[in-house]
Amino acid sequence: MTADEFRKHAHVLVDWMAGYMDTVEEYPVKSQVAPGEIFNQIPDSPPLQSESFDLLLKDFRDIIMPGITHWQHPDFYAYFPANTSPPSVLAEMLIATLGSQCMIWETSPAAAELEEKMMIWLRDMIKLPGQFEGVIQDSASTATLAAIISAREKASGFITNSEGTKTTPILRVYCSEQTHSSVEKAVKICGIGKKNLVKVPVRDDFSFDPVKLKEAVTLDLEKGYIPCCVVATIGTTGTTAIDPVRAIGEICKAHGLWLHVDAAMAGTALILPEFQWMLVGREYIDSFVFNPHKWMFTNFDCTAYFVRDAGSLIKTFEILPEYLKTRTRGKVNDYRDWGVPLGRRFRALKLWSVIRSYGTEGLQTIVRNHISIASQLANWISLENDFEILAPVVVSVVCFRYIPTGCSEEEINSINEKLNHLLNDSGKIYLSHTVLNGKYSLRMVTAQTNVTIGHVTKAWELIKNTARSIR
Ligand SMILES: *Cc1c(COP(=O)(O)O)cnc(C)c1O
Repeated sequence: MTADEFRKHAHVLVDWMAGYMDTVEEYPVKSQVAPGEIFNQIPDSPPLQSESFDLLLKDFRDIIMPGITHWQHPDFYAYFPANTSPPSVLAEMLIATLGSQCMIWETSPAAAELEEKMMIWLRDMIKLPGQFEGVIQDSASTATLAAIISAREKASGFITNSEGTKTTPILRVYCSEQTHSSVEKAVKICGIGKKNLVKVPVRDDFSFDPVKLKEAVTLDLEKGYIPCCVVATIGTTGTTAIDPVRAIGEICKAHGLWLHVDAAMAGTALILPEFQWMLVGREYIDSFVFNPHKWMFTNFDCTAYFVRDAGSLIKTFEILPEYLKTRTRGKVNDYRDWGVPLGRRFRALKLWSVIRSYGTEGLQTIVRNHISIASQLANWISLENDFEILAPVVVSVVCFRYIPTGCSEEEINSINEKLNHLLNDSGKIYLSHTVLNGKYSLRMVTAQTNVTIGHVTKAWELIKNTARSIR
């Protein structure tokens, strides 16, 4: 493809992209295709000769688009959002065009230095202490893996990295029953082992119970285990419960445990002064992760990982083969030593574009609006006798269910499951679910970039009408 051909196709694409942003609400939010429907339309072998981009674009429209679930649809209320925004997409175009691989400073100094500065901006926006340094990772899962490996190295005096896990006494990691599954994945990968992950019970509001944590640590010490790390969550995946960071941090401090905070979704709310209470106890935190690719309008992937002591992160991950030796080593940040992958995309440019385009006040306005929409929705739900809220509504997640009279708990569960499927199959809205104390709960997240109170008003009417028509 020549530069002229590229220019021609790119103009067509940009028109398509802007059109998509304008009309995304016209698509069914959740893809309606059956398994195999897309696969069977793609040829079994690649073309031998060059094909035109126009043909690709045609197939993209005809074959691919029906199999897309529209995460940028304002009626996407499922999971947690993976929000994008026009300034993020524009930056992504530049990133792809430069095609830089930013593994070390020398392979694109601007990428390393912009990343360093963006991490300072984000750190100050969410008000982590000034000694924290940050790095962009591909996902919160990877960042949490880095945290748990760092905790393992600290607990073993950096022996495990060189000698393997056999020489290390049994390490224990603690989280709550509501903690994200990425913690379990990390303890499996890093050799600590799933059976050494202690899932501590939660309190009535689904937050980590520090009293139970203390009991678990004491019991493990008596048994001769080495407590190593605690993962606290600011905004659990099920209900966005906020774990008490200070109470957990005091226990960590008393026993020399690493405190990792997973704020993947709700971390963005820390840019609001009225949500800074979630970070009380910040002085105890060793590492902290949140996802601008969830609720800060920066398209996937972009995870911000912060550590109190960058030196121990680097000591855990650094490698120095001959071909990566440079004259600037030690004077600049070579981010390949700050996590798992060697190769890295130029993700800082997206953050720069998004933060400058909205301004911190612009970001605050949107996030605040999402939170107020959730509380408005919770209010409407609580006014109906045949619906109930199942967990405190803290930020932008509302967990609720339909409770028709005269039904057993079992029947109520199956009615709500059916309700969820009916709503999602309608293509009008997309919700996901969780189970809370045995109760099947609908889970509605009002945090898509473009969601408004108008969308949620209509969605709530649809939910009520659909529920009451089930019999
Ligand atoms: C989404 C989420 C994760 C996983 O995020 P990825 O970036 O997809 O790995 C981890 N923890 C919490 C609390 C989450 O909400």
